[in-house]
Amino acid sequence: MKTRKMWEMTRLDIEAAIKSGMGIILPVGSTEQHGYHLPVSTDTIIAVESAIVVAEESNMIVAPPVAYGCKSRPLSGGGEGFAGTISVKGTVFIHLLVDILEELIADGFKKIVLFNGHMENAAFIYEAAFEAYKNVQRPDTKILVFDMLVNGFSEQTMDAVFGDDFAGWGLEHASIYETSVMLHLKPELVNMDAAVDDCPEEVCWYDILPAPDKMLTKSGNLWKATKATKEKGELLWKEQVASLLSAVQKEFK
Ligand SMILES: [Zn+2]
Repeated sequence: MKTRKMWEMTRLDIEAAIKSGMGIILPVGSTEQHGYHLPVSTDTIIAVESAIVVAEESNMIVAPPVAYGCKSRPLSGGGEGFAGTISVKGTVFIHLLVDILEELIADGFKKIVLFNGHMENAAFIYEAAFEAYKNVQRPDTKILVFDMLVNGFSEQTMDAVFGDDFAGWGLEHASIYETSVMLHLKPELVNMDAAVDDCPEEVCWYDILPAPDKMLTKSGNLWKATKATKEKGELLWKEQVASLLSAVQKEFK
C-alpha cells in the first residue's frame, strides 16, 4: 500500500480499503500548550504516530485526526489560560466524534479504533463511541476505544525512565514521558534548551474554579521536562505501540 493515511488517499483507494475489509483508526488529540519546549500539537502527533504504526502492522488505515480536544485542566494540562490552548466544549467534541464515527460506519468500515492522546478527552470519547454505536445499530461493526495510549509500562521501563521521578500521569503533562517520546518521534520539533523542571505549588486531588495560582505553573509543564531523553523516548515508544498493537490484533483477529 502506497500510504496508510486516509488524507493522502483517493476515493477509489478508500473504497478498495473498505471492500477488502480493512479497519480504520481515528487519532484524537488536542491543540494545547505543552510548556516552553514542545509544540501545541504534541497530543495529536503522539496519537497519529501510534495509529500509523498500528495501522501498518495490522492492515488498517488512519483517518484524518481530530486535532482539537476538551478543556485543559490545571493538573493534567496546565489549564486553559495559556496562548495556544484551543479547546472545544465537551458537547461539541462529542457531536463531532459521533458525526465522524457514523460516517465511517455508513461508508462501510466495520473495524474502528479510537486512539486518544489527550487525557481530558477520555470520558467524552467513550460517550461519543457509545452514542454512534447506539445510533447506527450495526451488530457487524466493532469499535475499540483507547481513551489513553498508555496502559502503564513494565516495572523495568518505569525504573529506567523515571527512577524516583514519577509523579503520576496527570503531572506528566509536557514532562518526562511526552518530551522523551517527542524527542524520539519528532526531535526537530522539541526545543530542549527551553525545557524546565516545574511543579504546581499545591497538587489537589480535586479541581477548583477559578484555578488558583498555586495549582498552576508558569512554564505550563507540570513536572521535570529536563529529565527527558531520546533513549527514554524510544523505550517508552516501543512498549506503548507493542501493547496497542497486541490489543488491536487480539480484538480483530
Ligand atoms: Zn499532552
